[in-house]
Order: sequence, then C-alpha cells, then structure tokens
Amino acid sequence: MRILVVEDEIQIQNSIKLFFKANNFKIDTSRFFDEALSLALINDYDCIILDLMLPDGNGIDIIRELKSKNENVGIIVVSAKNALDDKINALSLGADDYLTKPFNLSELNARVFSIIRRRKFFGNNITNINEISIDHASKKVTIKNTELELTKTEYDLLLYLVVNKNKVITKHAIAENLIGEEAEYLQSYDFVYTHMKNLRKKMLDAGSNDHIKTMYSVGYKFEIE
Ligand code: CA
Repeated sequence: MRILVVEDEIQIQNSIKLFFKANNFKIDTSRFFDEALSLALINDYDCIILDLMLPDGNGIDIIRELKSKNENVGIIVVSAKNALDDKINALSLGADDYLTKPFNLSELNARVFSIIRRRKFFGNNITNINEISIDHASKKVTIKNTELELTKTEYDLLLYLVVNKNKVITKHAIAENLIGEEAEYLQSYDFVYTHMKNLRKKMLDAGSNDHIKTMYSVGYKFEIE
C-alpha cells in the first residue's frame, strides 16, 4: 500500500515515514503544497496524510482540488490546531478523517488502516477471495458453505490479513491494528498468537486451505492467489 505524507515539519514527517515504512507501506513525502498536489494527481495512493498549514498553501485546497478532479483517494487530515472550522471544512470537502497534533503514531496507523479497509471494500458487500467469502454488512465469513463463528477480533484479524495478503506482517503491526495504541505497552504478543491460532483453526476446520504462514520470529503472512 502506498501513502503520501504531506507535512512541512521535517521531524514529524520523518517519524510518520519511518513508522509506516516499518509497517510495509510505500511512502512518498512532500513539504510543499504544489509538489504534494502534483504527486497526488500523478500517483495512485491508498491514502494521503495531509497537514493543513503548509508554507505555500493550505492543505484544505489540496482536498478541494483532488475532489474537483474526482480523485478517489483516502485523506486523513492532521492539523496542529483543533479548529472546528478546519475540521468541518476538511470533512465536508471529502476528507475521511481528522486527527489533531500531537497524535500517537499507532492511532494514526489505526485510522489510516480503517480508511484503506473501508475504501478497498467500498461498494462490495461481499469479498470473495479463493474459497473465503466475507460479508461486510453482516460480518459473516463463509468457507465452502460453512459459516465460521468468529469473534469480533478474529473477524478484524482476517480482514487485516486479507488487505495485507502475501506480505509479511509483523506481530506488532497486527497488535496495533487490533488494539490501537495500547500495543505500545504490551509485554508480549501472546494474544496475537492466540487469536491467529484460533482463526487459523476455525478456517481449517471449515475446509479452508492453510493460508496463514508463520514467519519465524517476525510475524505472519497470509498467502493467497
Ligand atoms: Ca504545517
């Protein structure tokens, strides 16, 4: 997945960049309005993390421009000021979410993932991937006509695996997507292991192929065509 980070404060830009790179995202960055707008128009991003106050313009106008050109990209605004006007403006122009600085990177990650998940599955009530069928409206998962009885966490975990299919995902990234910023305080990733084990067993019991691969000491990979 590819993200554009538009932020003129280099330290913040760097920390966002490093964080998402560590989570397997491809990251482009820009400090400037014009450059950011060109990048956003030329490339296909899954999400744009957008600061509003840029040296040569207001991020709000980037949202306006992109939407006027029917660019269908996820946008999360990060702004230093918690100005209600900005927030309402950004959201009414079509931004997906708004986060006030200073924010926690895990929180940003959770919001970005939620935007990407919503957009990836947008318009499709049912996602069919090999023998797995996911009904997003009812949150039901069916494998070869067997409906799985998944907990909410297992369901979220499966969606995360599907969105990140064929990529190595770290236990930490998974933990963050399941519990948000609390993941920073975890003593171990045992609960990730437990949910993964349970999900895998339920899928196998229903006749699924074994898609969940353990990547020794790193994390997991959801292997699927
Ligand atoms: Ca700024």
